[in-house]
Amino acid sequence: GLWLLLGLSLTFALLIWWLLGRPRSPNSELARALQAREFVPFLQPLVATDDEGIMGAEVLMRWQHPDEGLIRPDLFIPQAEASGLIIPMTTLIMEEVAKELGMQRALVPHGFHISFNISAAHCRDMALLDECRRFLVHFAPGQIVLVLELTERELLVADPQTLSLFSQLDEMGVRLAIDDFGTGHASLLYLQQFHVDYLKIDQSFIRRIGTESLSEHIVDNVIDLGTRLGLSLVAEGVETVEQARYLKGKGVDYLQGYLFGRPIPVRQFRDELQQRAMA
Ligand code: C2E
Ligand code: CA
Ligand code: CA
Ligand code: CA
Repeated sequence: GLWLLLGLSLTFALLIWWLLGRPRSPNSELARALQAREFVPFLQPLVATDDEGIMGAEVLMRWQHPDEGLIRPDLFIPQAEASGLIIPMTTLIMEEVAKELGMQRALVPHGFHISFNISAAHCRDMALLDECRRFLVHFAPGQIVLVLELTERELLVADPQTLSLFSQLDEMGVRLAIDDFGTGHASLLYLQQFHVDYLKIDQSFIRRIGTESLSEHIVDNVIDLGTRLGLSLVAEGVETVEQARYLKGKGVDYLQGYLFGRPIPVRQFRDELQQRAMA
């Protein structure tokens, strides 16, 4: 009896030792980081093509890891999406942006666009409505145009839940953008069903401008398609003056890219708005 008890306790002790000692799974590491609020928002400016004035910003997530430093989203977003943790992570950065910009909301121009990248799973979660509402109450009515960016790579299913969520978002004035446009296969019907307002032309197309090759025509085709759909166009990944001039000539409405500004921490973005206001 005693031996059996001893054996059992030994096995149990070994099991505990093994559980504590093995490397943490990526999911529990993400969950730990979420608890510690290590996911932080960076903002990148969007400019109007005609006067190159800042009319908004896209929020891009970074992981401020205690040992590894700043981690790029493509290294952790796929895992976050697979585990569903992307939803509370997005909620966290929405709260951070609302808090930081709302703190000095007089600096934010009227009608300023702020966009968040939203994954497909989040679009089936009715809590998204409340999250958007809670974001907007930090600002004066009409001060912020809240935009949700949905990637064309991850097409949404037009199920009743998603459609109902989007029609309620539409009533709240929240706008939709199709991200990475040209890389997937969003149909006209799809764009109508979800009341899409903006198309963001993928940067892989922008890079082809000025290459004077067949691939330059592909850019024109993507722009023409967007124009014919009657939606506002945003070009992302604009790095050169030549690209900006070309896109302006094609009637693209908004530009985003290193030429105009890199993504920076939300507080630094707010400080730059302040400097601009004082200048
Ligand atoms: P995206 O939504 O297409 O974002 C644009 C990416 O291009 C960003 O990379 C941005 O930093 C980068 N970029 C902007 N201008 C230029 C430029 O002129 N040249 C070049 N070479 N790159 C430029 P980032 O921040 O590393 O994000 C990568 C992707 O990760 C995003 O692509 C988006 O799909 C995803 N992501 C980022 N934040 C979030 C988030 O909060 N939620 C979700 N679901 N996905 C996110
Ligand atoms: Ca985006
Ligand atoms: Ca994109
Ligand atoms: Ca709309």
